[in-house]
Amino acid sequence: MKQILVEYNRDKSAAEQLGEIREEFCSGEYKSLLIHIFSGITDESLLTGIAKEIEGFCQTGLVVGTISAGEIKDGWVMSKGILVSAMLFRETEIQIHSFEAVLGREAEVGTKIRELLDSISDLKAAELFMPGTEMDTKEMFERISRCRKGIAIFGGYPGGTSLNSPEHFIFSSEGALYDALKVVTYAGKNLYVSTEKSIGWRALGLPFKVTKGYGKDLEEINDRPAAEVYEKFLRIDRKQHNNAEEAFEFPLLTRLNGDDMLRSVVHIREDGSLRLHGFVTEGMDVFLSYGDPSRIVETVNKRLEELCEFRPEVILLYSCIVRKTFWEDFVDMEMEPFARICSTSGFHTWGEILRDAETGVLSENNITLLSIGMREGEPKDTDVKSVRVDDTVLQGQASLLKRLTRLVYITMEELQKARQQLAFMAERDALTGLFNRGKIEQLINERLDMHDCVTSLVMVDLDFFKRINDTYGHDIGDTALTNVSDILADSVKALEGACAGRWGGEEFLILLPDVDEEAAMLYAEELRKKVEGHCFPMPEGLTISQGVVTVRECHDRKHVYKMVDDALYKSKINGRNRVTKAEWS
Ligand code: GH3
Ligand code: MG
Ligand code: MG
Repeated sequence: MKQILVEYNRDKSAAEQLGEIREEFCSGEYKSLLIHIFSGITDESLLTGIAKEIEGFCQTGLVVGTISAGEIKDGWVMSKGILVSAMLFRETEIQIHSFEAVLGREAEVGTKIRELLDSISDLKAAELFMPGTEMDTKEMFERISRCRKGIAIFGGYPGGTSLNSPEHFIFSSEGALYDALKVVTYAGKNLYVSTEKSIGWRALGLPFKVTKGYGKDLEEINDRPAAEVYEKFLRIDRKQHNNAEEAFEFPLLTRLNGDDMLRSVVHIREDGSLRLHGFVTEGMDVFLSYGDPSRIVETVNKRLEELCEFRPEVILLYSCIVRKTFWEDFVDMEMEPFARICSTSGFHTWGEILRDAETGVLSENNITLLSIGMREGEPKDTDVKSVRVDDTVLQGQASLLKRLTRLVYITMEELQKARQQLAFMAERDALTGLFNRGKIEQLINERLDMHDCVTSLVMVDLDFFKRINDTYGHDIGDTALTNVSDILADSVKALEGACAGRWGGEEFLILLPDVDEEAAMLYAEELRKKVEGHCFPMPEGLTISQGVVTVRECHDRKHVYKMVDDALYKSKINGRNRVTKAEWS
């Protein structure tokens, strides 16, 4: 396959500009000619006319046009131009289908698209162009996702360069379409398609919980108006006009199926709610996020490596408009290396559509750079040279941004580590490393609050421990204590949900969920033997006494701690180094 790109001049005819495309197609070597028109000019009748003229001159009915927020010609962004991208396929069959995009009937449209995709044999890829952002894509995409695994699906939302502009249409020789979506299908036994998204935005700080909102409307975060997050952290006021443009580069990040998903804010409303591009659901964790130049470069480089290996003949890039505003003068930096692999075209979008190759889930993305590599047949045996983004070109503000975001990231990482350490220390006993009393008590109480289950508790106390301290000193005493703790920690490892904590001094409590009377007694007896047989730093060794209680549904949990303590006491008075079961009256 082959791609020919032409920066189309509206003042010239198709015949003057597209001779090479027609000649190539008429050579007889190709089965299909698909023409994408990416247009930064939004004059409907002009574009319809151009599409008609191109169709006629190139002798193909396969022309699909979309409004663009930046046209990508061989990795470089054109400004408000018209890019004609002709893809010539030797064996692949292309079709273009239109579907009505009616609000409220998204599920139905999704099913129709799914049926279409499943009806085409050897279908390898489908490309979606969707104008407007009002549709409930969750419903629709869920249906489309059910199509055969192995069909790559990708695409983008058209839109002009300004936010809230009415220029969200696709077009063909038949006119502009605002409420229809186009599906281009690519079918062929020998067609290979590789799709991936690159992001590079990082989560900032701690997660927030979506407490009210559904779909693209987010009303409350952490039980407060959602806009407050933008006001507090970024000083973007809900009353400020163009507030969404300010918030655009700081989307909400959520994790779905292990994948980072960004949700741009399209509108911060005065009532404090947010209109998002992409859906949220209540209970979802979201983070504020920011673009990190080094991370972006890293993720794009990873993708470039994959593509070098894949060896495509044509690359399509669908990149979010936010990446364009983010990079400003350096936007080409992350796209130009793709064109060093092979001919690369595409456009800046208002949302990117991609099916996850592994899970088959189709989702709407923001702020991603989609790269689609296509190839007919096995890779040609040419030398593959490695291609990378060169970020040393970043200067001035962009370079400053790179360093500032690095500072934010490293600081965040260190704070995160400190937090984790603090959280660990807050629930651990410093000497033994077991759970401290507060934590083990909390875990036991949580377990006792659960019904319809069996739970056993074991209380452990070291025998004549005072004597050890008195004879060998406190340090040896400490070593003996940690030796016993290690044996306890080891003994619960194999039991699901089981854990041990230091109850105080030389006393421990062990939680054994789903362990009945008999198994608990066996466990305690094993433990007794292990401690008795352990080689301690004192020649006379050490033993433990234990009390065991098993709690069932019918038992009153109020006195559980006293019962297990009494059982332990019985072990003591009956000669120590033994296990006693607490009996329910
Ligand atoms: P019994 O068999 O009746 O339990 O006798 P005991 O000597 O173990 O009991 P007692 O309660 O009289 O003494 C417990 C001792 O445990 C006293 C205290 O010094 C010691 N102890 C408590 N915590 C620590 C600790 O963290 N390190 C050391 N080395 N000793 C500790
Ligand atoms: Mg003791
Ligand atoms: Mg004691």
